[in-house]
Amino acid sequence: MAKVSRITELKGVGPKLAEQLEQKLQIRTLTDLFFHLPFRYEDRSRITPIGMVQPMRPAVIQGEVRGASVLFGKRRSLLVKVQDHTGLVNLRFYHFNAAQKNQFRTGAMVRCYGEPRRGASGLELYHPEYSIIDEGLDADLEPSLTPVYPATDGISQQRLRLLHEQALTLLAADQVELTDLLPPQWLQQWRLPTLKDALLFLHNPPRDTRLELMESGQHPAQRRLILEELLAHQLSLHKLRAQVQADAAPAIHSAKQLQQALLANLPFTPTNAQSRVVAEIEQDLQQPYPMLRLVQGDVGSGKTLVAALAACDALEAGHQVALMAPTEILAEQHFNNLSGWFNPLGVQVGWLAGKVKGKARTQALADIAAGSAQLVVGTHALFQDEVHFARLGLVIIDEQHRFGVHQRLALREKGAHRNLAPHQLIMTATPIPRTLAMSAYADLDTSVIDELPPGRSPITTVAISDQRRHEVIERVNRACARPEQGGENAQAYWVCTLIEESEALQCQAAENTAQELTAALPHLRVGLVHGRMKAAEKADVMARFKAHELDLLVATTVIEVGVDVPNASLMIIENPERLGLAQLHQLRGRVGRGAAKSHCVLLYKSPLSFTSKQRLQVLRDSQDGFYIAEQDLAIRGPGELLGTRQTGLQMLRVADLQRDGELLPQVRDMAQQLWTQHPHTVEPLIQRWLGDAERFASV
Ligand code: ADP
Ligand code: MG
Repeated sequence: MAKVSRITELKGVGPKLAEQLEQKLQIRTLTDLFFHLPFRYEDRSRITPIGMVQPMRPAVIQGEVRGASVLFGKRRSLLVKVQDHTGLVNLRFYHFNAAQKNQFRTGAMVRCYGEPRRGASGLELYHPEYSIIDEGLDADLEPSLTPVYPATDGISQQRLRLLHEQALTLLAADQVELTDLLPPQWLQQWRLPTLKDALLFLHNPPRDTRLELMESGQHPAQRRLILEELLAHQLSLHKLRAQVQADAAPAIHSAKQLQQALLANLPFTPTNAQSRVVAEIEQDLQQPYPMLRLVQGDVGSGKTLVAALAACDALEAGHQVALMAPTEILAEQHFNNLSGWFNPLGVQVGWLAGKVKGKARTQALADIAAGSAQLVVGTHALFQDEVHFARLGLVIIDEQHRFGVHQRLALREKGAHRNLAPHQLIMTATPIPRTLAMSAYADLDTSVIDELPPGRSPITTVAISDQRRHEVIERVNRACARPEQGGENAQAYWVCTLIEESEALQCQAAENTAQELTAALPHLRVGLVHGRMKAAEKADVMARFKAHELDLLVATTVIEVGVDVPNASLMIIENPERLGLAQLHQLRGRVGRGAAKSHCVLLYKSPLSFTSKQRLQVLRDSQDGFYIAEQDLAIRGPGELLGTRQTGLQMLRVADLQRDGELLPQVRDMAQQLWTQHPHTVEPLIQRWLGDAERFASV
């Protein structure tokens, strides 16, 4: 018998519905329909005695109407008392008509489904679904848990349930074309149900299934799909890596003369960790295919030097190097630093950012195209179509968490001289816990700079309630005032955070704070940077702060990454409870860069919740970015840590990285096995969970 595969083969699915299903829910085939999974379940399979109803736990109840009255409070509402032999509960309706009110005549039997909440009259069900039960007739309860599907305009919950019912009947009778993509021996080895069994279960869990088990994602049918989805993501990253590394790249062997010249001019020598990571990079550069390496190094660990040493190798071999940073402030800072290091060695350093316009831009582009700009520093502007490199051999990306996966793919084309793709070095100051890194960066090799340069004094971190704000302001005064005024001549940051409000409000808050502090600290020179200022204005303020023409810099979190002002030794962070630990750690890393003892004040809004206290304590206890990241993961989950959108992991359908994180090592092993032993299943798995590669890559 021919098996069914297209959705139009179901009864009741005409061309119009088929088109809606495809356009709104990407459902074309029965397999697509099966993978449109419930995101939660309702238990309408049993009646809960009213006396046992609990707040927030949706339930079916049944009882006798004991009265219905219209109340005139702030809003008019209909209150219906329903009683069984165990207790009494109230139904409350804000939208109702006379006919409805009359339905609830005293003595009528009513059955409802809804979520009980604490209300003015005790436990109440707001706008429950209900039916009046005719005497003698016993309405049926559902035979299984009720799946709730992601529905949309024009395709109702009810419609989806009916489609699934039909499709599941066919599936149970083996009349559907459905491929189990996991190797059969895995099912035994990992104790997983077949795809068919898993789907039959998930769309229709029997009434004795425990809802709590389903909610925690622990049921074997769920595990099977969760593993499959995580596996598909992992494989897509493997594929990305394979795509990039299928290109040829220049094999770079270096005599290290340029490195020696650079180091000879520096007042310090590389740390052991820096040297080790440079050696790891050099191994990669010698290969005839592109390097894909991520360097993780805590704030201040000296990633710039590592990048510069890698650049030396490529430059010496006659290649151009591009270095990209996520913001103009950072790019400009790199440009200044690297010009200082490389110009004396006779290397031309070029500069390209959005704000480079007109003649200067034409010239910059010409220098890049001619190859006379050897090391080119810039922002995203370096990605644009109009930028052509003569012989790009190495691309360095600073602070990877702001760049997307697809941008890494785009880099391939920028190399294309003699069909050679550039090597890629990605540097991040956001330490990612190992398990998570395995997933998020499965396409990259990683190196870790696990040592700070010597001579850094630890930063003392304290948490102070905003009720003592005036004391904190006085402290800024002492730190920043000139010695003749009894101060310490240091510099300070005052960071304003207001994350859930609009950027405009955030900038407004920073402006207000700057005014307040200017008034309170008449001896100090106060500057302000925020996201709404023009790039040139921001750069100007930063330059003045760096030159110690400003004592106190009031800023929004735009200063989060990379800004380097060694004389700054005090940082105040307002409302730290609103930020992730990783971000706070980044911010704090702006101080403690010079020899002076540094301090960080977390000026929190009291009272603090228990979790917030816990989190701020982590920051007071430790300055180790990896430890902090692990704690952040444990307390807040991976979404926050990874930032958004750079991995595709935010689009997970059944898996949840925090809940299912412990599966990641297993997923990694599975991905390896599948890639080498069952390569034909790789593409179908990616297709099934991620759709076309383009869909993933353009996230
Ligand atoms: P990050 O890893 O945060 O990007 P940077 O590259 O900005 O760190 O380096 C932070 C500071 O440490 C800079 O002032 C840099 O010159 C200095 N630095 C880097 N490497 C060393 C080293 N081996 N010894 C001493 N100072 C160093
Ligand atoms: Mg840096």
